Amino acid sequence: MGMKTLDEKKILNRLFEYVGNMHIHSTSSDGTKSIEDIARIAQKTGLDFICFNDHNTLKGLHDGKEGWYEDVLVLIGIEVNKRCNHYLAYDVYDIIPDSDSNPQQVIDEVNRQGGFGFIAHPFERGSPFIDGGHGFTWNDWTVDGYVGISIWNYSSDWKGKAQSILTALYYYYNPGDAIRYPNYKTLERWDTESQKRKIVAIGDSDAHDYTFKRGALSWIIFPYRFLFRAINTHILLTRPLTRNFKDDKLRVYSALKKGNCFVSNDMIGDSRGFRFFVRWEDKEAIMGEEVEFRKGMILIAESPKKAIIRLIRNGKQIKSIMDRVLRYEVDEKGVYRVELLRPVFFKKKAAWIFSNPIYVR
Ligand SMILES: [Zn+2]
Ligand SMILES: [Zn+2]
Repeated sequence: MGMKTLDEKKILNRLFEYVGNMHIHSTSSDGTKSIEDIARIAQKTGLDFICFNDHNTLKGLHDGKEGWYEDVLVLIGIEVNKRCNHYLAYDVYDIIPDSDSNPQQVIDEVNRQGGFGFIAHPFERGSPFIDGGHGFTWNDWTVDGYVGISIWNYSSDWKGKAQSILTALYYYYNPGDAIRYPNYKTLERWDTESQKRKIVAIGDSDAHDYTFKRGALSWIIFPYRFLFRAINTHILLTRPLTRNFKDDKLRVYSALKKGNCFVSNDMIGDSRGFRFFVRWEDKEAIMGEEVEFRKGMILIAESPKKAIIRLIRNGKQIKSIMDRVLRYEVDEKGVYRVELLRPVFFKKKAAWIFSNPIYVR
């Protein structure tokens, strides 16, 4: 630990961080509030950008609803497919036809329009109380051309935990316990695929203000304002957003495509200020970037608060410390990422931050 060197200060000082909530449903599909109302909630919760992914519609986009709403940048994508292989697409202009049985067709169509996308809730486990117990999984891993995977989806994880009345009630009253750690299978798949090529991780909410009904009783699980303080995606830019909508949209999307972003569980604490980068000679690269291996490269992870910092190479943990800063001299090529955990209750820990990898090729 100790004093920061000038170089570290330099990279930290020239990055601008924006916090966003991704994968939101509005009244354009099965959400329960309008884009305007949801933007207002985002403003109150202090978010910088929100991304909508209504099912099989771009109504909001075609109605001209993208733009700045006070301090919140509203972007509109789409969620494609019905029973399986849900895909979150961005920067597209025309509806993408469903192809549950051939998700490659969906990915290709998104790319043909100049857009990009993420695999959503790939290992989702259904809940007997929602959608008749159906889990909307991703079934085809032979696909290519997608930018990344959502590694942490609040609504989906909650559903997977609510398997009985008792557990549903428990997780309703202890909503933080539903997201102690993302789905292991998703992380494993991400680690495996990212050894072949860059795979960007995002986190999302899948917010609907979903109403859970049991006889005469009903609960809203979970309100937008709650989910906006749970799983978020933070992007890092080299210059601030300008309020020029076209330019800002391009740059937010570009940071997401490049993986200059990290995923946080903001129920654990404010994660603004987290950084993960590599330094060698007089050069630096941040998460999401691919660099050529050189002797003397140092990986540095900086946490806004003391945390358990785990360094993972090619899916395997190689170092774990309890501190605010982790340093590691890179001794071999690999896909390096960090995950941070914080103690929540006695010996229980909860995952807090997941970096995107630095790819040392
Ligand atoms: Zn979905
Ligand atoms: Zn969804």
